[in-house]
Amino acid sequence: MSAGAAVTERTAELSENLDRVLARIEAARADAGREPGSVRLLPVTKFFPASDIEILYRLGRREFGESREQEAAGKAADLSGLAGIEWHIIGRLQRNKANAVARYAHTVHSLDSERLATALDRGSLAALEAGLRAEPLRVLIQVSLDEDPARGGAAERELDMLAERVGDAEGLRLGGLMAIPPLGDDPDSAFARLATLHTRLLASHPAATELSAGMSGDLESAVRHGATLVRVGTGLMGARPITSA
Ligand SMILES: *Cc1c(COP(=O)(O)O)cnc(C)c1O
Repeated sequence: MSAGAAVTERTAELSENLDRVLARIEAARADAGREPGSVRLLPVTKFFPASDIEILYRLGRREFGESREQEAAGKAADLSGLAGIEWHIIGRLQRNKANAVARYAHTVHSLDSERLATALDRGSLAALEAGLRAEPLRVLIQVSLDEDPARGGAAERELDMLAERVGDAEGLRLGGLMAIPPLGDDPDSAFARLATLHTRLLASHPAATELSAGMSGDLESAVRHGATLVRVGTGLMGARPITSA
């Protein structure tokens, strides 16, 4: 197959998958009686090539989720010519990657410690100063609903402290909350718990409206419980070449 034919074939496949995922989100949104436009799709493109992101960009997508910093940095550099593209870092982030991420990321979903907040704030201020970004870095606090350290996320009791910390940081803007439901748990009860935490956060931080929850397998449940952004990998891109975080 020629390169042109391969692109045409992949475009048809991604376009069809995209329509199907958007229809699922739309049905879940309507079933939940929520406002049109209140739930966005975040395509998760980890392990897939930059050429796939280019195709999705041409199909109208602007936000993309990546979980590994090096991979994200490479794609952001390769695709820096695509106007208005927004990179979301959704995976666990080491503090020593904070400066790099702050140069190109629009949103970090995985803020889970005060030390990471400090590192991202510093990185963002440096990037603002250098003219590498125009706006503060938007962060979501990742909540651990089961406090399993392997999956990342802050404990519920740390939420208020972290929200204050981000609220006080000039380089950061608190966008809302993110969670991954505990493995083997009923996603409905996890997302219900998350919704309660989000409502509580909104009382003190009314601008923190984003709720990043739901993946390919459980997006309907997440939308029922107030998700504003669903992170879909497999359902859109197909099976990942390597399964991982
Ligand atoms: C990979 C990943 C997703 C996408 O998961 P799928 O089941 O492939 O849709 C969502 N969120 C996070 C944090 C991920 O790492």
